[in-house]
Amino acid sequence: MFQKKIEIGDWIMQDKEQSTPSVIVQRDKDELAKGYPKWFRFLETIGLILFFILVAIIAIRISIVANELWYFILPSLILGWIFSDFIGGLVHWAGDTWGSVDMPILGPALIRPFREHHVDPYAITRHDFIETNAACALAGVPILFSCLFLKMGKEFPISSFIAFFVFFLTIFVLFTNQIHKWAHTKKKNKILIFLQNAHIILNPEHHQIHHTPPFNKYYCITTGWLNSFLNSIGFFPKFEKLIMKYTHALPRRDDIGVSAAEKEIK
Ligand SMILES: [Zn+2]
Ligand SMILES: [Zn+2]
Repeated sequence: MFQKKIEIGDWIMQDKEQSTPSVIVQRDKDELAKGYPKWFRFLETIGLILFFILVAIIAIRISIVANELWYFILPSLILGWIFSDFIGGLVHWAGDTWGSVDMPILGPALIRPFREHHVDPYAITRHDFIETNAACALAGVPILFSCLFLKMGKEFPISSFIAFFVFFLTIFVLFTNQIHKWAHTKKKNKILIFLQNAHIILNPEHHQIHHTPPFNKYYCITTGWLNSFLNSIGFFPKFEKLIMKYTHALPRRDDIGVSAAEKEIK
């Protein structure tokens, strides 16, 4: 897609084919790949262990009331599946749009993977289970922990349904980036190909729309079901305008460079 690469310090300037006026400036992919902090990997591993412990506790609690609240299982599962697409999309949009790799702590730990993914979309296929998924597990830990305080049983229908929903939602959110990784994986088995072709999980061609510069739409990466709807109502552009109004921050400044980011908001 890009023809020319001009290195400027740790940046790479990339001109679009057929020299469009928009100049996309991205970070160096090798620098980004090297920036995965050891301390964050340790934290992610702890998060993953806590996630599985909490999920096991909630699974036991659900199994105790499952006989009397069996009719909650399917609706909470479907709602969790749909909502995981939205949550994944919202987090993806935030990571792509705001902040900088140069920010202390947050930059290398949370923002760097989003920058790396736009410069080198296949880097994710080389990431192991922890680097791919554990940040999602870490984010789910406080939510699952709060779930422990919800009362469950026939006499508590609302809090029981919330517990069922959160249980499924956090499990699906854990697999969001794994599903995203499969959308970039070249070698895959027949089951994955079937699920992708049926749009039960993220379809690679559908996801390619997001990977078209300036990377500003189709953020949902679990099923992708919400992408065309959110795009049709201008959900993310409206949200960006609201944030810009109060913070004066420039969306995608760190991802595509100042000039391309300024051009996109005009
Ligand atoms: Zn992205
Ligand atoms: Zn992707």
